[in-house]
Amino acid sequence: MARQKLLVANWKMHFVRAQASEYLKVFTERVRGVHKTELVLAPPFTLLETVGRALEGTAIRLAAQDLFYEREGAFTGEISPIMLKDLGCSYVIVGHSERRRLLGETDELINKKLKAARDAGLVPILCVGETLEERRAGKTQRVLEAQVRGALAGVHPHPQPLSPSRERGAGVRGPHLVIAYEPVWAIGTGINAEPEEAEASALFIRELLAQLWNAETATTVRILYGGSVKPANFEGFLRHPNIDGALVGGASLDPEAFAQLAQMAERV
Ligand code: PEP
Repeated sequence: MARQKLLVANWKMHFVRAQASEYLKVFTERVRGVHKTELVLAPPFTLLETVGRALEGTAIRLAAQDLFYEREGAFTGEISPIMLKDLGCSYVIVGHSERRRLLGETDELINKKLKAARDAGLVPILCVGETLEERRAGKTQRVLEAQVRGALAGVHPHPQPLSPSRERGAGVRGPHLVIAYEPVWAIGTGINAEPEEAEASALFIRELLAQLWNAETATTVRILYGGSVKPANFEGFLRHPNIDGALVGGASLDPEAFAQLAQMAERV
């Protein structure tokens, strides 16, 4: 089964409105000819509305970088999946290693967030990946397995259809999941994993999904590579059958570079 290529820009904590508008002018122009590859921008919460409006009428989708697992209530400072849907988000990043490391996010919390996202009709982009120490100790697969199993505990391949009183049209079929394999040591360091290593991890994750769910569903889940992707190294990743695109941090801050990645994915 051919999976559509996917490129996600993780802007992290960058840009204010004027910068986002400048970016979008350049980016939307440069990717006019990109049709086969799905493009997603994940700005900070403060820019979701601005970016969402600018993307209206385009095929570029909007993602949030995080969410809280409750729909509403006394959770000061948190943002609910309903709020993200309201702003037009289709995707949400869950379990990014920066949040695991700096904010102590556990697999249990990530599991709650992932379920809440799917319940609201948002597609979670689940990030998993080993640290340098874990890699050196030969624990990569053990870590990936624990993170995937933890995040997907009690999660079924197809979400329950949502009642009309909740998100109309959100109960679409499909695995409703993207997984990003992001070795922690490769994020923001300029040192990317070898494409062969990334392919081995993506295949490992896909086989694990086949065990947890079933082989048919596992072949439909898009698995991305993330970690210092840039135009100079992206082609190597795109050649591998289990890598369906990339989650991009640093290089996504430059609209020209990110558009170049989109054009490269389009040519595959
Ligand atoms: C990321 O933040 O998910 C990421 C992959 O960052 P970078 O591309 O900068 O390594």
